[in-house]
Amino acid sequence: MNPGARLLILGKQGAGKGTQALRLSRHYVVPHISTGDTLRQAIRSGSELGREAHRYLDSGELVPDEIVIGMVRERLTRSDTSHRGFVLDGFPRTVTQAEALARILSPNGLHLAIDLEIDTASVLNRLASRRVCGDCGANYSVIDNPPRVPGLCDVCGGEVVQRDDDTEAAIRRRLELYEAETAPLIEWYEDRGLLARIAAIGSPDEVTERIVTVVDRAILHPPGT
Ligand code: AMP
Repeated sequence: MNPGARLLILGKQGAGKGTQALRLSRHYVVPHISTGDTLRQAIRSGSELGREAHRYLDSGELVPDEIVIGMVRERLTRSDTSHRGFVLDGFPRTVTQAEALARILSPNGLHLAIDLEIDTASVLNRLASRRVCGDCGANYSVIDNPPRVPGLCDVCGGEVVQRDDDTEAAIRRRLELYEAETAPLIEWYEDRGLLARIAAIGSPDEVTERIVTVVDRAILHPPGT
């Protein structure tokens, strides 16, 4: 039996976090937990969380820590994740969130934090061509990975659209926030012996293969053994 894995993915917007998180969740048979997808679903459903989160997402700002930490805590204490593990995508984004995650996971901890490395010029091109399924969150690119039927998701048949926050102003703001708030997490995980740096270039298959190689090693030989 596949024993599962406890992973998270870091990287700039457009580095391919969503694509790789989905592939890893299938490979290790664990839930893919995307805080961005959860927030977008909440906005679509018109829930109280959605009404609160809406203005932050539209402007590219971070949703306050206490809101996202509460969301992730609730998800990580359900039995599927507590037994088999998870792939976290888009969380943590601040050191406060990383500290809270370590407390939520204690005593088990993560197997690995994967940093997808890519330069800013490449992500700007990717973000401009990015399209997503409004229902299941699957990612497409109008340049090199369009849906088979234009505008319709290959996975679930949902509508494939450009994200509301993939505007030039919101992208600029999200990249600024990434440098200020999220990039310090790379050092945070490195200091704890939990970081794997992966080049996010080449085909999605090549990137997945690089990640699986280091994750398998980390699961067999956890830090500190
Ligand atoms: P993403 O889909 O991961 O790019 O997230 C889209 C937006 O959701 C971000 O620009 C933030 O407004 C919000 N968001 C997602 N995850 C977090 C998080 N961990 N902390 C704060 N805001 C978040």
